[in-house]
Amino acid sequence: MGKHYLVTGGAGFIGSHLVDRLLHEGHRVTTIDSFSDYYDPALKRRNLQEAEKSSNFTLFEGDICDRNLVDSAMTLGPVDTVIHLAARAGVRPSILDPQAYYRVNCLGTSNLLESCVKHGIRHFIFASSSSVYGENAHVPFHEEMRVDRPVSPYAATKQAGEGLVYSFHENHDLHATCLRFFTVYGPRQRPEMAIHKFLTAVLTGAPVTLFGDGSTSRDYTYVLDAVEGIIQAVQHAADFRIFNIGSGRPIQLRDLVTTIGQVTGKQPLLQFESMQMGDVTHTFADIRRAREELGYRPDTDLETGLCRMLDWLAASEP
Ligand code: NAD
Repeated sequence: MGKHYLVTGGAGFIGSHLVDRLLHEGHRVTTIDSFSDYYDPALKRRNLQEAEKSSNFTLFEGDICDRNLVDSAMTLGPVDTVIHLAARAGVRPSILDPQAYYRVNCLGTSNLLESCVKHGIRHFIFASSSSVYGENAHVPFHEEMRVDRPVSPYAATKQAGEGLVYSFHENHDLHATCLRFFTVYGPRQRPEMAIHKFLTAVLTGAPVTLFGDGSTSRDYTYVLDAVEGIIQAVQHAADFRIFNIGSGRPIQLRDLVTTIGQVTGKQPLLQFESMQMGDVTHTFADIRRAREELGYRPDTDLETGLCRMLDWLAASEP
């Protein structure tokens, strides 16, 4: 029997893939998305083109901080699980506008949790981030490590979000899961994210700007692997649990650019700049807990993921 899921941020990069997958499996999906202008809202409209053809899909266009709107979305029929992906994403811009991040990521999250309690919704999934690990010398990052040294307001709001979720679990009848995503990439990736920018630059012959000397590294996660992790967490319903959703295979920036050169067949023109505030040197996910408890198996290698992204970029050209 199909279930009813409320996906916040369902027009975004990860959210729209999740919405497509849930609809494909025959579930009912309600989405709240404000189509914020953090990046071109037209891209988000395009992300929902397939979903909007389905009679199982309902879109509430608006802000998760709007209590009435959130209440309306939750009273559209019993919701089995809220999957909360809406956020102000991005590390560097959060240093310039911390309050905008605080409003959406903390107040918005609290608003959703309060509404869940009010409407008797018992399962909540929260999109957290690898950024909560901060500048951590111990790798790989394990869920039990200290996360009290966020190096950007964005990371601080994600850490606070996890705390809010835990406190609602403690005080109410709410099962909750926090998923710490590690740099997700693939078709529909946000245009300001590194892989999207690098691919576009290489394809157009523009220089690729690298921050630092190329030795920083990231644990890149292919978007459909991340979506699989979300679905597994939805089916798991632990009392309260945190999971890393990464690939467990960190890649240095210089190797990423070399691979981009190989898959595009073009030599990247490199331009080096100093490290940006808020950026950490390394991310590396320990994914044993997700593997053992959820059955999470991220198996898309970087070359395959980049090729799928290239196909998508080619298909999106006007
Ligand atoms: P995204 O920006 O593409 O998606 C977020 C969506 O939330 C957007 O469609 C946006 O319009 C919507 N939104 C923003 N503010 C809103 C508000 N006030 N009310 C309603 N909707 C609002 O980002 P994404 O990359 O798909 O990220 C999804 C989630 O995963 C976010 O919570 C993000 O912090 C988290 N995350 C992403 C990554 C990554 O690599 N992409 C890594 C770690 C964590």
